[in-house]
Amino acid sequence: MSHDTIPRETVNRERLDVDVLIIGAGPAGLATACRLKQLNPDTHVMVLEKGSEVGAHILSGAIMQPTAMNELFPDWQAMGAPLNTPVVTDEVYYFTEKRGFKFPKLFEPKLLRNHGNYIVSLGNVCRWLAEQAEGLGVEIYPGFAASELLFGDEGQITGVVTGDMGLDADGQQKDSYMQGMEIYANYTVFSEGCRGHLGKQLIAHYQLDEGRFNEKKDPQHYGLGIKELWQIDPVLNEELNKGTSGQHKAGLVLHTAGWPVSETLAKEKAGGGGFLYHLENNQISLGFISELAYQHPFYDPYQEMQRWKTHPTIAKFLKGGKRISYGARAIAKGGLQSLPNMHFPGGLLIG
Ligand SMILES: Cc1cc2nc3c(=O)[nH]c(=O)nc-3n(C[C@H](O)[C@H](O)[C@H](O)COP(=O)(O)OP(=O)(O)OC[C@H]3O[C@@H](n4cnc5c(N)ncnc54)[C@H](O)[C@@H]3O)c2cc1C
Repeated sequence: MSHDTIPRETVNRERLDVDVLIIGAGPAGLATACRLKQLNPDTHVMVLEKGSEVGAHILSGAIMQPTAMNELFPDWQAMGAPLNTPVVTDEVYYFTEKRGFKFPKLFEPKLLRNHGNYIVSLGNVCRWLAEQAEGLGVEIYPGFAASELLFGDEGQITGVVTGDMGLDADGQQKDSYMQGMEIYANYTVFSEGCRGHLGKQLIAHYQLDEGRFNEKKDPQHYGLGIKELWQIDPVLNEELNKGTSGQHKAGLVLHTAGWPVSETLAKEKAGGGGFLYHLENNQISLGFISELAYQHPFYDPYQEMQRWKTHPTIAKFLKGGKRISYGARAIAKGGLQSLPNMHFPGGLLIG
């Protein structure tokens, strides 16, 4: 190792060697781990996950196209994969402040047609995938974040250093201090999700955004997705909606454009939109994505989502309900032409 990005204090770190190291136990990392073991059960595959458990950092409530699952585990239904709620109804709305205009089926964007897909808790899907992976012999270590890259003599990636644990806010060691480990691998797969900190370093270091996918130099652009999970009481919800039929209907999918974005962001040539998915067990996952191209210094994606929730088309679903979790995540919005090259010496960027 003779690279200038060599991590600090490498001398006394513990060292581990594996065949394939996977960074991040999201759907991409776990599917990769399962596939590798299916192809060659003798490969030593290790997954590092910075969350305290698999699924801890996954934003629940998503629509899932089952193509990859069909390929990975053709009998996933018999195996009990948590894809329990098929999409039954798709609705797309254009919002003004007070009204919602439903798109006629004919004009619904193809991208938003979800028949054949499932509304899932992505956290549960990851937990299930992790069980399958462990059953196949993959080692998964939650609570371990990959913090630095390791480079070999020829400039290739040879693994990562995990973060030190037990440091106080000033970076001083506490009694619980534990030095990070060096983990070396023949191949390292980075599945940290959108804009992972190691992924950004890899893209810059190997100039991956100059690659084949990006000949037009169309840079990646991002959105900020804020998502909430609500528990609905259907009886109370019906009562509060003044005797109209209960609003919760597992399998209903709503996407919205227009207000509140039309008031603020559109003027700045940026955009955003909302979604609301009805899961099983009277739960609703809803969220709002703001494109990160807005320029107004006072634009606040969180407040914009809270305004969106007050729209009559959305608010009626939430009456009497309780928010049980929430989170925010970056989302890549550039499309295929903005993808960086995904391979480099010693590793791969996926997800
Ligand atoms: C609000 C919102 C709504 C969405 N809705 C949908 C939807 O309905 N349908 C859909 O198909 N997609 C949806 N997406 C996109 C979808 O969530 C992502 O495409 C998908 O999660 C990407 O999977 P991944 O495995 O690449 O990364 P992620 O799911 O982001 O998983 C990355 C994992 O890596 C871990 N990690 C990160 N860095 C490190 C590190 N340094 N060391 C160790 N572990 C690390 C994280 O904790 C996490 O567990 C949505 C995204 C957002 C933000």
